Amino acid sequence: MSIVTREQLLSFPADAPYQLQMQNSFTRHEQIAKVLNNVGEVDEGIYSLFNMRVSPYTAQLMDPNDPNCPIRKQYLPSNGEMPSNVEFADSLGEDEDMIENSSVVHRYPRRVLFLVYQTCGSYCRYCTRKRMVSHTERTIVKDEIETGLDYISNNTEIEDVLLSGGDPLLLSDKRLDYILGEIRRRAPHVRFLRIGSRLPVQIPSRITNELISVLTKHDVDLLNVHVNHPKEITPYFKAQMRKLAKSGILLGNQAVLLKGVNDDPKILRELFFKLIDCRVRPYYVYSCDAATGNGPWYVPYRRMLEIIEQLRGWISGPVMPTFVVDGVGGLGKLPVQPEYVTLTSDGKVMLRNFEGKTARALHLEEIVKQGE
Ligand SMILES: *Cc1c(COP(=O)(O)O)cnc(C)c1O
Ligand code: SF4
Repeated sequence: MSIVTREQLLSFPADAPYQLQMQNSFTRHEQIAKVLNNVGEVDEGIYSLFNMRVSPYTAQLMDPNDPNCPIRKQYLPSNGEMPSNVEFADSLGEDEDMIENSSVVHRYPRRVLFLVYQTCGSYCRYCTRKRMVSHTERTIVKDEIETGLDYISNNTEIEDVLLSGGDPLLLSDKRLDYILGEIRRRAPHVRFLRIGSRLPVQIPSRITNELISVLTKHDVDLLNVHVNHPKEITPYFKAQMRKLAKSGILLGNQAVLLKGVNDDPKILRELFFKLIDCRVRPYYVYSCDAATGNGPWYVPYRRMLEIIEQLRGWISGPVMPTFVVDGVGGLGKLPVQPEYVTLTSDGKVMLRNFEGKTARALHLEEIVKQGE
């Protein structure tokens, strides 16, 4: 750790190779308190729950003084992260759907989640997978990857593979080339190959020409990034995403609805349009999962519905993502949709638009009377 003054932080090159960004990450609140003001004390117990990691690039986005800065709220540990009785280490029940001796989660028909790395460029305090992310004792080993590759190649009904983690883009180009190559070579039944990564947001320098060649060589169809706030969309991020878009890969974004960060339709509106400007299509907005210690970020469901109502109809259709609650205990992703079209118990189809205007849709009711 060589960054100990604010001047050193500000002069750290944003385009430094990702390995250098990783080596110079902040891993303790005392370290980041040297470069930012008003950093709160944190009990040791919080670190045993989930490690801290903030890349220099991520730290540069943080407000030097404001403890409520939306970037600081995502990454700086606080004593508010106390476990509560509504939470579970594995809130989505992923371990139960994990194929034995592998890191493949097979929950939905025909598509699998393949966890290929357990570290990230910076650790989001509200992480769903904090039970394994950042923990050295849960390192995903080569054998688990090999068993995962065997599983995918032997199960010809799998048509969609999503690489995630941790962050798959922290693997070296060579390792990524191997994993993607093996999927393409041994599993021709896979029609959709995608990667979920927050690295373009946390360390945009990872998007090198060499990486893009690996992605295009194996015809990766979609890269989903994870941006939560317009402040994360810097000119550098935009340039990197446009470079990726030029290579022909589809780009999407999944955000998490976080209290005090983006639980506001105005902020989300700005975020979605800025993403489009980076050639990134908003895909999902998740409610914050009930992983241990996520208390500070929950947004009540009622508020989630309100936010959707204030966006849908008031914003261009292609800019509007699907809002999702990931069901506890392995129910899977559940789309959230305020009721605009309702079927009443006596068979009427009632319509309500974004402005609250209503009508009845006789033509959609089951008994349409001819001549009326
Ligand atoms: C999110 C997820 C997927 C992919 O879901 P889509 O809705 O197709 O994007 C696949 N498997 C698991 C276990 C997931 O959590
Ligand atoms: S980038 Fe994703 S996996 Fe990594 S800490 Fe953040 S939420 Fe967790």
